[in-house]
Amino acid sequence: MTAEIIAVGTELLLGDILNTNAQFLARELAALGISVYYQSVVGDNAGRLEALVRQARERSDLLVFTGGLGPTDDDLTKQTVAKAYGDTLRFDPEELEKIRAFFERWGRTMPPSNEKQAYVPVNGRKIENHNGTAPGMIFEDTKCKGKYAVLLPGPPKEMQPMFCDTVRPWLAKMSDGVLFSRTLRVTGVGESHLEPKISDLLEAANPTSALYAKMGEVVIRVTAKAATLEKAQEMCAQRAQELKERLGDVVYTDVFDSLEETVVGTLKRTKKTVATAESCTGGLLSQRLTAVAGASEVFSFGTCTYSNEMKQKILGVPAQMLADVGAVSPQVAAAMARGVRACSGAEIGVGITGIAGPGGGTPEKPVGLVYVSVCDARATYVQKLLMTNRTRDSVRTWASQHALEMVRRLALGLEQPGCDCFENGQAVEMSDHEGLRNV
Ligand code: AMP
Ligand code: MG
Repeated sequence: MTAEIIAVGTELLLGDILNTNAQFLARELAALGISVYYQSVVGDNAGRLEALVRQARERSDLLVFTGGLGPTDDDLTKQTVAKAYGDTLRFDPEELEKIRAFFERWGRTMPPSNEKQAYVPVNGRKIENHNGTAPGMIFEDTKCKGKYAVLLPGPPKEMQPMFCDTVRPWLAKMSDGVLFSRTLRVTGVGESHLEPKISDLLEAANPTSALYAKMGEVVIRVTAKAATLEKAQEMCAQRAQELKERLGDVVYTDVFDSLEETVVGTLKRTKKTVATAESCTGGLLSQRLTAVAGASEVFSFGTCTYSNEMKQKILGVPAQMLADVGAVSPQVAAAMARGVRACSGAEIGVGITGIAGPGGGTPEKPVGLVYVSVCDARATYVQKLLMTNRTRDSVRTWASQHALEMVRRLALGLEQPGCDCFENGQAVEMSDHEGLRNV
């Protein structure tokens, strides 16, 4: 069964409200195994709505409408759809009593215009609305059996329970399968690097795999369609395994929703703790870690040492080092990581120092230059990042993303690509190594 979601309302076209109904319905229909091929938005205009219904009816088996069921003259969805599907509307006294009672519950008298909402399909069925006055309805196309239009009111608080209580069970009986999705997340490498390794899988039909680039990561969504949920889950698990084998340890999770959740989960599993010393990220890293419930088990201490003075006082970064090489340097990043590790007693220390911009850059140290360091009992790693042409916000977010990934890799004993490695006790050198990351 193919479906189209149609949101009716001029306020949507003007951008006054966000079309959250489409997102809700798209997810629900996908979970039922119904393929949504189109989503449309149309204003409160009879001619354009009629034209859209005509077109959508041709190309989709099921049309799901939201909005335009209100009492005012511009609410015209049901008249228009009834006409297109060869049905008519009748006055339903029982429905009118319900609407009147709804107003009385709030101590108000029903305005005459609401009578309009008591019209229901002659051949189709009505859908009860327990949270508002407009009933929903289902029409079957008289000229083409098995094609339906479902009409739901616009307010999400009314639409969602009506969909879940009535429409979903009705559709579940007709659907020929279920869809299940599983999400793999990758950080540290871009889309173009991943694609050639999995191009055949990206073209495969069931399960399908799709790549999406997001801030600081790439998401691969695997979706399978099968007769049962168990079968669809098994198909997704197999494909996810294949993807992980091909892509290796850059896939940081196929379970968690974010890198910070994965890092907290990894630290818990490996029984390690982390402490952070941040400069240009101003606490963003500790904010991301502590946003995860249960972070207290693995996160002991976070400091935002913005000034040179505090880097010396709190973290023990040598004054001479700051004077010689400056705060934005691999030496200082490493000294911050080592310093916070020492004063917190955590297994892993993190140091971040850089120039987030937009001001403060020089030819030698441009805006977007950030050093991230992680250390444990054995070694200290420093990564140099050069994030040119980015906003302050983006530089800070990317820096925190790299730091999280370095913590994950250190906790798991994985190699740290693009990093210089120094044994603890060994001095960290200023280097313009090959690993310089233009991200
Ligand atoms: P209506 O049923 O067209 O009278 O819509 C009533 C109200 O429902 C609107 O003013 C919005 O607040 C909300 N609404 C309508 N359509 C949508 C939609 N597609 N997504 C989210 N909210 C909506
Ligand atoms: Mg409306």
